[in-house]
Amino acid sequence: MSTAYPTSSTACCPAGNIIYLTEAETKRLKVLERRYREKARLQITARVQFYIAQMKQSPLEGICTSYSTLSIRDQKSRWGSCSSRGTLSFNYRLIFAPPGVLDYVVVHELCHLTHMNHSKDFWHLVAYIMPEYKQYKNWLRDHGQELNLPEYLRRHGIDITL
Ligand SMILES: [Zn+2]
Repeated sequence: MSTAYPTSSTACCPAGNIIYLTEAETKRLKVLERRYREKARLQITARVQFYIAQMKQSPLEGICTSYSTLSIRDQKSRWGSCSSRGTLSFNYRLIFAPPGVLDYVVVHELCHLTHMNHSKDFWHLVAYIMPEYKQYKNWLRDHGQELNLPEYLRRHGIDITL
């Protein structure tokens, strides 16, 4: 018995980029995934709190920092989102990214609490909170597809197959 597990986190996964796993291997991967999701929840919540504290101290006026819910998901094509009701969602796969990249997505979504668009004002706010954000934004564009559990394990020399 085998299960296809796409190694790409984007919807446009190249056809050849699939590894086949046995049932036992799939189970093992699911257990690991749960652990990394929990780790992601803790880390992302901590960074949200960190940046909210920073934004509250900024001299900028009209900055909104209140959100209703924080959810950690496994969206196929998004790293984060912010709804008009103030729900912040983050992709758990960010836990596999360099810390600055995870922070960038946190800052990006927090800035949407003030500006629900990608206007100049929005990007000014992002740059104010995180002046070096562009390097992380570009990193995510170039390497986002590598952020997934099998790839992470492979990079650390942990074999997925049993
Ligand atoms: Zn956005």
